[in-house]
Amino acid sequence: MLAKKYKDMLSQKSVIRELSEFATARGKEIGYENVFDYSLGNPSIPVPQEFTDYLIKILGEENPIKLHGYSPSLGIPEAKEKLAKSLNRRFNMNYTGNHIFMTTGAAGAIAHAVRCVTEPGDEVLAFAPFFPEYIPYINHTGATLKTVPANTVDFQINFDEFEKMLTDKVAAVLINTPNNPSGVLYSEETLRKLAKILEEKSEEYGHIIYLISDEPYREILFDGITSPYPANFYKYTLTCYSFSKSLSLPGERIGYVAVHPECPESETMVVMMGQISRGTGHNCPASLFQLAVAEFADLTADLSVYETNMNILYDALTELGFTCVRPNGTFYIFPKALEEDSVAFCKKALKYDLILVPADSFGCPGYFRMAYCIDTEKVERSVEALKKFVETEYPNR
Ligand code: PLP
Repeated sequence: MLAKKYKDMLSQKSVIRELSEFATARGKEIGYENVFDYSLGNPSIPVPQEFTDYLIKILGEENPIKLHGYSPSLGIPEAKEKLAKSLNRRFNMNYTGNHIFMTTGAAGAIAHAVRCVTEPGDEVLAFAPFFPEYIPYINHTGATLKTVPANTVDFQINFDEFEKMLTDKVAAVLINTPNNPSGVLYSEETLRKLAKILEEKSEEYGHIIYLISDEPYREILFDGITSPYPANFYKYTLTCYSFSKSLSLPGERIGYVAVHPECPESETMVVMMGQISRGTGHNCPASLFQLAVAEFADLTADLSVYETNMNILYDALTELGFTCVRPNGTFYIFPKALEEDSVAFCKKALKYDLILVPADSFGCPGYFRMAYCIDTEKVERSVEALKKFVETEYPNR
């Protein structure tokens, strides 16, 4: 018999994937260059040339067994040491390689972090708007995802709702900063307040409430700002990172979990993740890429195009009358739709070959997301389409 749980999921396909498939099909009709496809968060810039050169060099010179063999189940020690040193240097932490668990991207990192600190039946809280894949990521662990309603004023944390939902059933809180889909970075003030509440409630409930911090967009920041490092504010933090966005490597599936050294049994937690990986099947990420990302831990692709695209869209959208919080980073922007039903709004946009994602699945109905990891030239041309869409469909707004 086929597994009911997964068969049932076929009727709940990812809206983002469906829209992306629509964009591809429409591209076959009118040329993909004429489809303003803002659906998918797939980086549009190449991996840095130094990275490619390094791969070519080690492929030519290194022992193929080292490059292509199974890695140790916790990751390659020399790679983990280098990553730990980079984090210590940049964020004033005290990691060693023994606090790092190598994973298949941020998805793999979250899979291991959640399983490490929850029992089936526990609750994990996340904040709207949230990445919709958190639903399967969490619910497949046996824990239950509960989502705190959005603070739509500035997309920082809605602390009133959070405190109501933070019961003794909550084993972990999952944050994503800077955020997909809002583009907003949690401020130091937000992180400090969050940490204080978690400390007080951990004490009151007699068990640690872990913070799982999902940070794949950590380096994609605008206006010269720097990102506060959530683990600096709360010692029970598991940092989930991915090189998918910062180095434009999503297809290589490479990332890590870094466990705060002051967590009780922090090194044991990493060893436990090795055991967890035996069940998830997300074990031993590619040795070649563990070695390569560790070599370039401080490097990013040239991310400047995302800021250029954001500025064009933010200016165009606000000029057209959209309410929109200016993103601090990522490659997403999250305006309020011009009607309450954002699904209907995004359907109307399709007539103008604008592929916008309604935010219902991000836990924030009434809004929509644009993933502007596309060529700037296309962003510029899309402004005309946006204008036509708004003026035709919402003449009296
Ligand atoms: N978390 C967030 C917020 C994301 O946006 C994504 C991917 O888009 C992931 C996790 C998964 O990242 P990865 O592809 O590295 O597994």
